Amino acid sequence: MNKRMLAIDAINSSTLDQHTINYKDENSIDVFGDNVFSISVMKKRLPKDIFKSVQATIENFTELDPAIADVVANAMKDWAIEKCATHYAHVFFPLTGATAEKHDSFLVPDLSGKAIAEFSGVTLIQGEPDASSFPSGGIRQTFEARGYTAWDVTSPAYIMENPNGATLCIPTAFVSWTGEALDKKTPIMRSMQVFNKQAQRILKLFGDDSEKFVASTCGAEQEYFLIDKNFITARPDIMASGRTLFGAPSPKGQEFDDHYFGAISDRVLAFMFEVERELYKLGIPAKTRHNEVAPGQFEVAPVFETANLATDHQQLVMVTLKKIAKKFNLKCLLHEKPFAGINGSGKHLNYSFGNESQGNLLDPGKTPHKNAQFLVFCAAVIRGVHKYSKILRAVIASAGNDHRLGANEAPPAIISIFLGEQLTDVLDQIKKGCVVSSKEAGIMNVGVDTLPKLPRDAGDRNRTSPFAFTGNRFEFRAVGSEQSIAGPIVAMNTIFADSINYIATEIENYMNGNPEKLNEAVQAVLKKVVDEHDSIIFNGDNYTDFWQEEAAKRELPNLKTTPEALLAFCEDEALELFDKYNVLSNIELKSRFEIYLEQYILKIFVEAKTTIEMASTIIYPSAVRYQTELAASCLKMKKLDIDCDNSVLSEVSVLIKNLRLNIVELETILSQKNDEPLAEAKICCEKIIPAMLEVRKTVDMLETVVADDLWDLPVYQEMLFIK
Ligand code: ADP
Ligand code: MG
Repeated sequence: MNKRMLAIDAINSSTLDQHTINYKDENSIDVFGDNVFSISVMKKRLPKDIFKSVQATIENFTELDPAIADVVANAMKDWAIEKCATHYAHVFFPLTGATAEKHDSFLVPDLSGKAIAEFSGVTLIQGEPDASSFPSGGIRQTFEARGYTAWDVTSPAYIMENPNGATLCIPTAFVSWTGEALDKKTPIMRSMQVFNKQAQRILKLFGDDSEKFVASTCGAEQEYFLIDKNFITARPDIMASGRTLFGAPSPKGQEFDDHYFGAISDRVLAFMFEVERELYKLGIPAKTRHNEVAPGQFEVAPVFETANLATDHQQLVMVTLKKIAKKFNLKCLLHEKPFAGINGSGKHLNYSFGNESQGNLLDPGKTPHKNAQFLVFCAAVIRGVHKYSKILRAVIASAGNDHRLGANEAPPAIISIFLGEQLTDVLDQIKKGCVVSSKEAGIMNVGVDTLPKLPRDAGDRNRTSPFAFTGNRFEFRAVGSEQSIAGPIVAMNTIFADSINYIATEIENYMNGNPEKLNEAVQAVLKKVVDEHDSIIFNGDNYTDFWQEEAAKRELPNLKTTPEALLAFCEDEALELFDKYNVLSNIELKSRFEIYLEQYILKIFVEAKTTIEMASTIIYPSAVRYQTELAASCLKMKKLDIDCDNSVLSEVSVLIKNLRLNIVELETILSQKNDEPLAEAKICCEKIIPAMLEVRKTVDMLETVVADDLWDLPVYQEMLFIK
């Protein structure tokens, strides 16, 4: 039996016990937050003044008082040990997009030959993992390889369970010894600060002096595929690159639309229950689950949280999906395009901002006054997305997402905004200035008073837009399923902070110290922003050729590949923007360019090498075996003087010959090394990927002619439908 048959056999004879939770004794919702060193746990375990101080830091992003660290560390340790923890880990988020952790034991030997558990404030606040193997993009030379992790008080510590023990995990920022951010968390925290600072100016203009921290909020819908784990050993491509590099289309794909929101199979549902239970324990509010469009594709979405916490939790969602899948003999694929020809996976990033006194600032609200404030923030988003669309494109660039963007099921690489009819109409009115003279009760009003009320759900949804207004938030739909949401959040916070800064300054200048001129100023500035930036708004179908042409007319960038997109980080506009708001220095931004480019190159090289290896050692032999079989049969027939139809033999022979040519071609391109990363990256997308596709084309044709029992690779139909 070949590997493929063995896999199918193993699945058919599996007696997996899907009953892993004793839900009758313990409702999953009851375990919510059990493994989190949360505000309520701290309130119980910390002296009152210390608790107050920590709480202030968490809620208002105020500076942490280092003097309290020892007390907090001790309480944390006692709590963790009660939860059976023996180790603590500073968890950090390197620029690879992964989650990294270094574990240390609480254990300290005492003089009597026994050991005690110890955890000091210093070890809580700061760690020093040997960081030399994490990419730093030239920031950190290996001879000064030190990197530090610093406790992020705003994201609570938690317990990670393992069948053989538990670990106290402490979310941290990861910086070089010279203070440069080597991670994805530090810039988020910086960007949240600057966003708040600018948002406060608008709130003040509209009369809110409360200074309650305005935080960005996020809810990321995670799409993923599940396939039986047994197939993986027979698919080196999935093992190495997370996607199929070969595979003819399955006779049945997603054309019946019978999977989307369909009944969830028992095994997958059992998996989802356990994933959710694990997430609940970690205080992650998983909310929605359903089948997605493609067969074998699913989605999980949480209730939104503040950006920093949402990002840490999102990383944990990915880790948990992968971990629990194994328990159910499944493999969770987070890749943006695991299977050609059917939908890929995205991570729709719902984004808004708000604070305690105002609630959600992108909620149009019911009163005209609120409407005006909403429109100011909305205009800030429009300006930001238009002015910095290249940056938004750059932060979603990856080898995986390149396959998905523009693939007729995902937003194109052109960044635009869907606003919905109602809101677009409001902006049109602002543009025409027809509301300027409207007066009510003798006072000049914001004009927008006379506009139609803004409904909460602004009419139709647009599923083709990369950046859609969905009634009270924006949904950045172009984010890839495997990507960290940190980059997109940092970009949005910063570009919107810049826009708010611009708008606030314009309004202030217009008013020139006269508060009575607020309404007039708001109208004038809104008009100006809409006039300059409404070409970014597109409410039509983003999948059409019409939009490609129309976008070109509007001079909206259409950056189709990662290398093109990443170049945005090297432009003065981006360097100045991130530097001005102290979110990323020029060195830090350039390091990101280098790292992401390198990741791209590495990914493509792994795929190319895997393509060559599989084509040479798995497919070629299968095809030759079949060719030999056919040839032998032909020879025998000829000997017997029977007429022999050798058309299949000819077809297979031609394909085998082509396969060799395709492989050699790819090998030749791969051997031409270029040491300049940008040039190398361009070779990847312009030469290597097309050459890989040529190999694939031939292999996929062979798949449809070679005898089934000689074909080693599990085929699409099997992987997508056997559960
Ligand atoms: P849909 O599939 O219709 O887009 P989902 O329910 O799958 O909707 O996901 C919506 C996501 O948007 C959820 O994660 C939700 O918490 C999030 N969300 C709702 N309000 C906000 C907000 N103010 N800020 C950020 N995210 C939000
Ligand atoms: Mg959705």
